[in-house]
Amino acid sequence: MDAKPGSGMGRRNFIKTAALGAAAVGLGASLPGLARAENFSKPPLPWPENALEPYISARTIKYHYGKHHAGYVKKLNAAVKGTPWAKMDLVAVIKGSYGKDDDLFNNAAQVWNHTFYWNSMKPGGGGQPSGELAKAIKDQFGTVAACRDQLFDASAKRFGSGWGWLCLRDGNLVVASSSNALNPMVDGMKPLLTIDVWEHAYYLDYQNRRGDYLKAVMDHLINWEFAARNLAI
Ligand code: MN
Repeated sequence: MDAKPGSGMGRRNFIKTAALGAAAVGLGASLPGLARAENFSKPPLPWPENALEPYISARTIKYHYGKHHAGYVKKLNAAVKGTPWAKMDLVAVIKGSYGKDDDLFNNAAQVWNHTFYWNSMKPGGGGQPSGELAKAIKDQFGTVAACRDQLFDASAKRFGSGWGWLCLRDGNLVVASSSNALNPMVDGMKPLLTIDVWEHAYYLDYQNRRGDYLKAVMDHLINWEFAARNLAI
């Protein structure tokens, strides 16, 4: 576990399992529909609720998107109402509240994380990345399988609730995991894709078998094209 020195949640552990070097990149992937805090709403899912079956059930998506994600949006809107945060975009709220206002940070980051997660999966996903992403993965990890294994391990070993990530850091691909709401953008990384490993993401379908959920996501759902688009911007 690599704990970043500093204040507040920065100490709460990222795992970095790969890093090498070149070319600087900006922080924070932008997402449509998340422009201003005062009007936060859930972007629609990028696919129908049952589209990820049989790997993630419609029932899981119904609760996860309709209750958990919705709850974070509601709490975020309540937290920013009538404050200067309401004039800021979501990434600015996340970065600005980090280490200063845990409640605001947690809800803002969870709104971003969930939208990013939905886009990190698609029906008919899995398979092989292509183009510049495939090249970057091979340069960094040697093989796509090695990258996949690192992402699997980081996500599987994250103790308690959190997220697995493929990110860019200083132009290099890195695999990371974060606890609770923590987002790698506050640790100088640019997220490319994510996997939710909170129990609510898989418990209805897999109970305690997080590894089975992760395998299903990796093999059948992971959206390499989304990661490739984030790599390109
Ligand atoms: Mn979740």
